[in-house]
Amino acid sequence: MRRLSTTQAKRLQKMAQAKVRLEQFKIDQIIPLIRCNRKARVQLCEQSVPVNSLSLRCFRAHGTNCARCGIKGIYFLLERDARENRFSLRLYAQSESGVEIPMTVDHIKPKSKGGKDNLNNLQPLCYLCNQVKKDTEQKWNSHRIKKVENHETAIN
Ligand SMILES: [Zn+2]
Repeated sequence: MRRLSTTQAKRLQKMAQAKVRLEQFKIDQIIPLIRCNRKARVQLCEQSVPVNSLSLRCFRAHGTNCARCGIKGIYFLLERDARENRFSLRLYAQSESGVEIPMTVDHIKPKSKGGKDNLNNLQPLCYLCNQVKKDTEQKWNSHRIKKVENHETAIN
């Protein structure tokens, strides 16, 4: 379990309060729904929700653990930012004290340095580790990032 500083906890709580949330789903309720098809959507809570995003596909291919600190994404929330119209599925972990930590997807080789939108160039990172990594090129626990060798590797 991960401990947060007071500043980190406050920032994450503020981020959570800015969301409009409909429903929480377990990992195994969502992972089987994820597709690579461009138009893949499912009906959840009377919303048409995309299930083909790069981040969802990364969690399906590489699992829901942060590649750096190992914290585990434990549920998806169907949510939107206050200023967005559409709901989407986002993955969350929790700190030791129950503060939600968003799980993000990181480009191992940053896009700014020519990194591709390709599952082999993606790793799950929690929000806090992603902040540490920023624009550097680092790969952690490479055994967790299995090489993906099928048609889903190419996004376009
Ligand atoms: Zn992490």
